[in-house]
Amino acid sequence: MVSKTLSAFLQTHLTELKDRGLYNTIDPLESSNGPVIRMKGREFVNLSSNNYLGLATDRRLVDAAVQATIRFGVGSGSVRTINGTLALHVELEEKLAAFKGTEAAVSFQSGFNCNMAAISAVMDAGDAILSDELNHASIIDGCRLTKAKVIRYSHSDMDDLRAKAKEARESGTFEKIMVITDGVFSMDGDMAKLPEIVDISEAYDLITYVDDAHGTGVLGGGAGTVKHFGLSDRIIFQIGTLSKAVGAAGGYVAGTQQVIDWLKARSRPFLFSTAVPPGTVAACITAIDILQGSKELQDRLWENTAYLQKGLKALGFSIGRTATPITPCIIGDEEKTQRFSSRLYEEGVYAKAIVFPTVPKGTGRVRNMPTAEHSTEMLDHALTAYEKVGRELGLIR
Ligand code: PMP
Repeated sequence: MVSKTLSAFLQTHLTELKDRGLYNTIDPLESSNGPVIRMKGREFVNLSSNNYLGLATDRRLVDAAVQATIRFGVGSGSVRTINGTLALHVELEEKLAAFKGTEAAVSFQSGFNCNMAAISAVMDAGDAILSDELNHASIIDGCRLTKAKVIRYSHSDMDDLRAKAKEARESGTFEKIMVITDGVFSMDGDMAKLPEIVDISEAYDLITYVDDAHGTGVLGGGAGTVKHFGLSDRIIFQIGTLSKAVGAAGGYVAGTQQVIDWLKARSRPFLFSTAVPPGTVAACITAIDILQGSKELQDRLWENTAYLQKGLKALGFSIGRTATPITPCIIGDEEKTQRFSSRLYEEGVYAKAIVFPTVPKGTGRVRNMPTAEHSTEMLDHALTAYEKVGRELGLIR
């Protein structure tokens, strides 16, 4: 059956996206997602993955996943509350809590799901959420699932946050007020100003909520942005993903026992969506052991980050306000950004263009994600391509 109204809607909007250069083509990889990838029979230096520490392809995680799969099967078989909670899930949650320095933790199927789960489990009509304007899409959607009033504050603008927190609290309109921020902002690589956010929160009784998808495994000795700032006992919700530096898939919320008990009782993805498969959970457990046991991979990640960022700056590129491995190369014009990324591709470097509406108009950038696994030769190959294409497009001299 065909729906004429749906076809007309899809036709109009797909054409519009394509005309505006916003229709994303998806390139299937013919290899694992390592520092060098294979697509259409060619190899590329990969600067687009979130596999920060190379754990997605680490032999120790692969072995753990295989062994757990042989022992427990490929699926968990049920949602957590029915009979999908394996002893492995509990072990992972205990390890995550110890790693994060919190009383407890609960795991979810993805980082995206954590934000769907946690925000709506505690915020309701009569509440307010103060949200950084550059927060991730999953936070925005998580807020939408509540009936709370969402108040956006200017990106990392602590005067704006303080003023809005004061106004919301003194209005007497709201019962609970939450402040939500990314720990590390995914398009610019800057860190949230958590010490100031915590001070404002304590002055106006705000519930603090940090999504540390890009901080976990990268900052604070691997434990994340909250640990980096020494604020483990002053942030109520710590959210993270197990799909980036941790290398596998899934997400977690870490916090007090009371918070975690409530999420297990009331968060909808926990109650109504099947638990993460055993192999994935076992890989996550191994990853946390590796992160706690040695800083070697993190050190390599930061060395590669410094090397790439220094090289790009020396060539005359702007890398914006990054303070983490996320390395945007700001081009500006959307069309030029797309062309830049396509030319890098032709030169054997895979680094994606990110343009409006993902980032503000006129701030198009090619985003580079160095990892612990890149060799100096791979990064030099990328820098040589950047130099060539940058000159060609008149971006550097
Ligand atoms: N939050 C942030 C800040 C993210 O960058 C991402 C990943 N794009 C997510 C949540 C979602 O994590 P996952 O991929 O595990 O769903």
